[in-house]
Amino acid sequence: MIALQNITKTYRSRGQTVDAVRDITLHVEKGEIFGIIGHSGAGKSTLIRCINLLERPTSGSVTVGGTELTKLGGKELQRQRRKIGMIFQHFNLLSSASVRDNIAFPLRLAGMKKTAINARVDELLSLVGLEEHGNKYPAQLSGGQKQRVGIARALAADPEVLLCDEATSALDPQTTNAILSLLMDINEKLGLTIVLITHEMQVIRSICDRVAVMDGGRIVEMDTVLNVFLRP
Ligand code: ADP
Ligand code: ADP
Repeated sequence: MIALQNITKTYRSRGQTVDAVRDITLHVEKGEIFGIIGHSGAGKSTLIRCINLLERPTSGSVTVGGTELTKLGGKELQRQRRKIGMIFQHFNLLSSASVRDNIAFPLRLAGMKKTAINARVDELLSLVGLEEHGNKYPAQLSGGQKQRVGIARALAADPEVLLCDEATSALDPQTTNAILSLLMDINEKLGLTIVLITHEMQVIRSICDRVAVMDGGRIVEMDTVLNVFLRP
């Protein structure tokens, strides 16, 4: 479902260069929950942003669902990106928009009709367990509820891949577990492929099939979670 081939990302600013990601090749299968773990500064955030080209790799190719995204630009890239949803540590919700409007946002951008949007938003609210909260504003919600809105918005356009950028790092342990089980439900129900980055081992242990360990922009280990973390 996802193929990263020899991805390198070099940042240049004020004469300094930083190789945030160094020559990473990895494949994620359809339906897999794939985790990337590492310390702060290891390059996780840069790598996951390369998957939907929020960051354009300096070199290497990114292929998602059979389409090489690194060959695309403009409208066609925008269209292909709808196959990829993303959720964030700090949720990135529009504070002046209701829960319904936050979820509807990508559907409006995609030009969907109002009645179809309303029906789709109802479906998504129920999927994430927020049926009663559609007319509230983000400030009226708990952290866990905000992330449920983030998930609903990310799934609005029915993507094949969900990217999770430290999606539970701002949440307490109990809420983290609830969000992780929601992600597992969605993975099972929709056959969605999930890639997540985290600095928390527990997140990887609870839901990932395979894990890559990053350090200094490289993958230093990649295997099933069982083989990487639970070996005697
Ligand atoms: P992580 O997500 O594992 O904390 P990041 O991908 O955020 O790691 O960062 C990897 C390295 O790249 C760090 O040294 C960071 O300072 C650097 N970096 C990240 N984004 C930028 C940027 N926009 N400009 C310059 N350097 C950056
Ligand atoms: P997080 O760890 O939550 O991903 P970061 O502090 O690593 O957040 O990055 C926040 C933003 O700042 C990102 O857009 C990242 O690309 C950018 N950034 C990170 N490190 C640097 C850096 N050394 N120079 C410039 N921008 C950076």
